[in-house]
Amino acid sequence: MILIDGNKISSEIKEEIAIEVQQMKSRGERAPHLAAIIVGHDGGSETYVGHKEKSCKQVGFDSTVLRFEDTITESELLATVNKLNNDPAIDGFIMQLPLPKHISEQKVIEAIDPRKDVDGFHPINLGRMVIGLPCYVSATPAGIVELIKRYKIETSGKNVVVIGRSNIVGKPISILLAQKSNPGDATVTLTHSRTKNLKEVVANADIVIAALGQAEFLTADMVKKGAVVIDVGITRVKSETTKSGWKLIGDVKFNEVAEKASYITPVPGGVGPMTIVSLLQNTLKAAKGEIYPK
Ligand code: NAD
Repeated sequence: MILIDGNKISSEIKEEIAIEVQQMKSRGERAPHLAAIIVGHDGGSETYVGHKEKSCKQVGFDSTVLRFEDTITESELLATVNKLNNDPAIDGFIMQLPLPKHISEQKVIEAIDPRKDVDGFHPINLGRMVIGLPCYVSATPAGIVELIKRYKIETSGKNVVVIGRSNIVGKPISILLAQKSNPGDATVTLTHSRTKNLKEVVANADIVIAALGQAEFLTADMVKKGAVVIDVGITRVKSETTKSGWKLIGDVKFNEVAEKASYITPVPGGVGPMTIVSLLQNTLKAAKGEIYPK
């Protein structure tokens, strides 16, 4: 069994990005600049935005965080989005979700200029991804593809089963792996909470991607021997063995599934670290005008 080390791969990619940023700076160009808008005080969002700021610093990006109380109105938030859309010093920005209930997330996402939508949530980027055009691919599925690529895992002609059909993970990763590309060219089954014969479907999978958000859902009896297992799930549970009093658990019952898998991602340290790195990669592409020429 090979452990897919997201920490190692993400550090390697950060080093590659840092070198490129150095080269940009030495040519007299400014560093890529990523901004984030955060509304309210959601713990998960604060942590994520904190990691993002740290990662930007590590690779030499500029970063800005715009913080608002959850009393901000939808029109005030839309005006902020518009300001970032028109700010030439910002290459890309993200709207940290969730937003308070009185604000339409969809409306805000659609207000982001697709050329700066480094989270890849705008329908234009999603649509371009579906038809295989250059676009910003959302961070988690892009990170999964990168892991598959760097570990040289064969996907062509393989049966891939994705569990969970969210717009940010399940749906995009299904499309990416079914695409005529490498990694890609797989036969993909997208399963969800209404799937009736999930066990039978998963038993047939060469690659399983668990993204349903139910701790230790995928057990050893469900997976084929030699399967590749990618665990996207993150559930925070109380723990007496950690300093913080919390630990993170994936959607896969790691110890037993690891004995049957050919490759497996741990939680934490698998897909998680790749997510921020993908965001950095998208921001670098934005700064270089690689997807949408400036
Ligand atoms: P979500 O929470 O929006 O949706 C869950 C999906 O799982 C739904 O499509 C639902 O139909 C499906 N589902 C639920 N129960 C099921 C069952 N018993 N059988 C089959 N399908 C079932 O999904 P999400 O936002 O993609 O999040 C999924 C998990 O991934 C969460 O734990 C989340 O924290 C984690 N996540 C991790 C990262 C990362 O960077 N590692 C990024 C995004 C999400």
